[in-house]
Amino acid sequence: MSYFAASIKQMLGANPGKPAPEDYSPEAREIHVVKKGRKETKAELMAIEEAHALHERRHLWRKRRWMTLILVNLLFVVSYYFDVQLLEGALTASRFIGFHMADLNSALQVMLAFKHVVLNLLIGTVTVFILWILVGGRTFCSWVCPYHLLAEWTETLHLWLEAKKWIRPVTFHRGARTIFYVLFALLALVTGYTVFETLSPTGILSRAMIYGPGLALLWVLLLLLFEVFVSRRAWCRYVCPIGLTYGLVGSISPVRVKYNLKDCHHEGNCRKVCLVPHVLDMTIKGRAADVDVPVGADCTRCGLCVDACPTSSLTYEVLGLKKLQ
Ligand code: SF4
Ligand code: SF4
Repeated sequence: MSYFAASIKQMLGANPGKPAPEDYSPEAREIHVVKKGRKETKAELMAIEEAHALHERRHLWRKRRWMTLILVNLLFVVSYYFDVQLLEGALTASRFIGFHMADLNSALQVMLAFKHVVLNLLIGTVTVFILWILVGGRTFCSWVCPYHLLAEWTETLHLWLEAKKWIRPVTFHRGARTIFYVLFALLALVTGYTVFETLSPTGILSRAMIYGPGLALLWVLLLLLFEVFVSRRAWCRYVCPIGLTYGLVGSISPVRVKYNLKDCHHEGNCRKVCLVPHVLDMTIKGRAADVDVPVGADCTRCGLCVDACPTSSLTYEVLGLKKLQ
């Protein structure tokens, strides 16, 4: 199966699994044989662990991302309060120095509910579509979505409770998100209302920051509590159709994270920090079919794995340009 088709299948809910023997490149096969025969000493394993911990503490990409996310959302607030007409509206639909921008998923929901193509929305959708192809699809999730940031912060609490063994985390099938995607589209079509928009914490938080808080914030609080005490990052992993929409856009983006097999220790720290660990399946010993493997479309380009990897086995790349540091 082609890389592209496998990446989309995984995003819709399929498990990655081991590549077929004929899919391995000769170079990758050679590296796997060498690594299989090598057994690290206790001292080497400790050194690897230390190197990972040291590298991760820098949180280079996380700092850049959090700063960008806060700045983008602040720009909406400042533009509204000071009426500077730089970035008008909210994340679902806005105007950036005169350019119409419409969130792809919201636009789809509105057109399904209205049952006709809304011209302004279509123009805004094209602008956003091109923008997110250029910057990497689900980059929207981790670099712009305010709910992502809140969920990332509360995730720390979930992990702490889990480490203390005070909660037993619940997981669901990732395919649930695909079912919710269809369900929300059908609901818009049948009811004539954009049901998802009422429930979307992305829109609720964006509007609350710009126009002031409302009762809908209680729903966001409920979601966060569910993620802290029951299921880690449940909304983004199993429900949110925005992630799926932008994931599809990102499948053809030149901005992505790339894995290199050579120096990988395969201890899996990158998978532990990742919101969508299935895209890092190739970091498991024996899994990478090639020496260089691009990370799948479901990747949010958050950079947590890049921060976690001391061997630069995971790096950002822009196709045709040098890798980003
Ligand atoms: S890619 Fe993942 S498993 Fe490999 S060295 Fe980096 S953090 Fe460790
Ligand atoms: S693969 Fe890396 S960049 Fe992509 S979502 Fe996971 S941690 Fe973030």
